[in-house]
Amino acid sequence: MNADIRTGRLDPEVIQENFSDLHTPLNELQAIQESARCLFCHDAPCTQACPTDIDIPGFIRKIASGNLHGAAKTILDENIMGNTCGNVCPVEELCEQVCVKNTSEEKPVLIGQLQRYATDYLLDNGIQPFEAGPDSGKHIAVVGAGPAGLSCAHRLAQFGHNVTVYDCHDEPGGLNEYGLAAYKMCEERAAREVAFILDIGGINIENGKSLGIDFDLDDLRQKFDAVFIGLGHNTVNILGMENEDVDGVYNAVDYIERIRQEYLSDLPVGRQVVVIGGGNTAIDIAVQIKKLGAESVTMVYRRGLDQMGATDYEQEVAQTNGVLITTQARPLRIHTSDNQLSAVEFEYTEKDSNGNLAGTGETFTLAADQLFKAIGQALETTPLAGTETPEIINRRIQVNAQQRTNLPDVWAGGDCTPGTDLTVTAVQDGKIAALSINEYLNHG
Ligand SMILES: Cc1cc2nc3c(=O)[nH]c(=O)nc-3n(C[C@H](O)[C@H](O)[C@H](O)COP(=O)(O)OP(=O)(O)OC[C@H]3O[C@@H](n4cnc5c(N)ncnc54)[C@H](O)[C@@H]3O)c2cc1C
Ligand code: SF4
Repeated sequence: MNADIRTGRLDPEVIQENFSDLHTPLNELQAIQESARCLFCHDAPCTQACPTDIDIPGFIRKIASGNLHGAAKTILDENIMGNTCGNVCPVEELCEQVCVKNTSEEKPVLIGQLQRYATDYLLDNGIQPFEAGPDSGKHIAVVGAGPAGLSCAHRLAQFGHNVTVYDCHDEPGGLNEYGLAAYKMCEERAAREVAFILDIGGINIENGKSLGIDFDLDDLRQKFDAVFIGLGHNTVNILGMENEDVDGVYNAVDYIERIRQEYLSDLPVGRQVVVIGGGNTAIDIAVQIKKLGAESVTMVYRRGLDQMGATDYEQEVAQTNGVLITTQARPLRIHTSDNQLSAVEFEYTEKDSNGNLAGTGETFTLAADQLFKAIGQALETTPLAGTETPEIINRRIQVNAQQRTNLPDVWAGGDCTPGTDLTVTAVQDGKIAALSINEYLNHG
């Protein structure tokens, strides 16, 4: 390993401090004051902007009157992962963006933080407001224990159906457990939420079981009354460049998984770090490697700031953490020395006369001992092989408005289907699919 890549670049206490909660939770007084700012709008624009249709003024009114149990129930009735979403939703582009308080006071009601406040109350106090319905005698297989799969399973359990969730990882939670930034998901937040979801009963989790290896879609369709697929993205895009596998070059998603699962001080951290990409994954690895003690972190994106997948807020988080963002440049070459990464060469880009991205011929080189590739994730379709397979276009499983595939007993949702890749949209997909599966099981 390159001598400039080493563990423990910062004292463990400093690292712990760096990874503390992005937002300090509201206290009781702050929550009451913040809820009092809400105008309880009719046809509330915030609710319309929420992918899971949470009655936002409804839950804020309950917080204002001190009914935290009721507030949390209002949230969780629509979004069973409302606690995680209160922390990780890009609210600045959803509910808070359209809050009418932006106009009158130039600051929205802090909906995300209020959502977290109410749901924290329920989870901290071990209150379980949901119970499984009377046994329907029906059995449903869910593949993938991420937000889409768990949301689907929870709603199906409420209807009284028996659910078996298969996941290839050792722990359930999907990217909530393995992907979301550690400073957004402190204190075992993901595991606590999964335990809360499973506490309803009627859901059996089978971890370490892979579709396409331990069983296939035909097996599930024979054994179960219906199947839901929530595989997420199971592969990452590659640069397709020479030296992509040398020492010092990492997949951002794999490294982020290590940040969530390993002791932070044991992680290998470079001195000069380069990140390629412009989405949330790129921002998350750039910010977290800086928090682990990298001296310089440069994120390079091939288009302009306004075309980045990462929101303005995420870009701001990166910049306030000392990440340098370079735009309009694409990687040309990975340079090595003694078979180890030494630098990355880039070419500036611009739009050509057809509006396509093209290289300008002008290049620059960044010295680097660590390079993180964060150029997107995708669905690898091999696990779906069977006598019949769901229709796939552009590496996404095609579904209708009820999340149903072209196979009559198979539904799908979350990142493996078309749409925005967010926790909240995956939860909504799982919920919609469960409603549709229930309808199918009851009425055909
Ligand atoms: C680094 C990163 C940061 C992100 N940050 C945010 C954020 O801040 N806010 C936000 O809203 N969204 C964020 N997202 C997106 C969000 O995490 C996803 O949109 C969401 O997790 C999708 O849920 P899902 O259930 O579809 O898939 P996943 O969460 O990926 O879950 C899929 C599950 O399927 C399992 N699986 C895969 N293949 C198989 C198989 N063959 N057999 C059995 N099981 C299988 C996996 O183990 C996994 O548990 C981020 C994503 C990444 C990668
Ligand atoms: S838009 Fe803002 S003020 Fe209106 S109901 Fe929603 S949170 Fe309250």
